[in-house]
Formats: sequence, C-alpha cells, structure tokens
Amino acid sequence: MYDNEIKDLIKQLGVQIRFSMDLDNEGYYIPEAKLIVLDTKLSELEQKKALLHELSHAAKHNGNLELYRATYNARAKMEREADDLMLRMLLKKYLSNSELETKDLNCIKFLECNHLDLAFENRVKEIIAMY
Ligand SMILES: [Zn+2]
Repeated sequence: MYDNEIKDLIKQLGVQIRFSMDLDNEGYYIPEAKLIVLDTKLSELEQKKALLHELSHAAKHNGNLELYRATYNARAKMEREADDLMLRMLLKKYLSNSELETKDLNCIKFLECNHLDLAFENRVKEIIAMY
C-alpha cells in the first residue's frame, strides 16, 4: 500500500509501524521505541499523510525529544517542519504523477486533491520557490 519511496524511508529510519483503534490523534511517533502508531480509522490518504508527518519527526527530531516536550515554541517549530516535509513528499509525487512543470502547479488543486487544509497554500508556494 505504500510506495517505494515511503518504504525506503521507513527502512532507512528503522521505524516500526503499528495501528491502533483508539487514538485521540491521527498518529504518534514514539522515539524511545522508534515506533509510529497510526489510527486504523483513517482513510488510506489520511493515513499516508499522517505517516509522512510522523516519519518526518523520526527523520528530523529524534534527538530533540526533550525540547519538543518542554516548550511550546520548539514544539510548534517541529510540527511545522514535519508538515513541510510531508508537503514536500506529497508535492513531489503529485508533480511526477501529473507531469506538470513546477511553474504550472495550481497550489489549491494540489491541496484539494490531497485533502489538505487550504491554509497550507503559502507554505506550498514557499516550497516551490525553493525548487
Ligand atoms: Zn507532529
């Protein structure tokens, strides 16, 4: 169900994926156990987004756990970074599937297609600007 890029990332990071029926969040990353827990109730797309978000934490924030738990600002920054990485991976996939040039991308269409909050529009623009 996951594409190769995601499988590679999971392998590379050495994380395990588990599913749980009663989460109060879409997903969690537990660094001490290198474990990502996802909510079984999510649709495939929602699950993929949650997985990408949690994988981003595993990739970027493994050593910063105390900081994450300690301060609101640090947590907000890491959440933003995790969303950015999720957006980058979805965007890459979207561009290669649609065979669109980056300059021809319609941000709103991309967000709608992935059932993402339209509030992400500016961040998608920032990401594209870095291409
Ligand atoms: Zn997060």
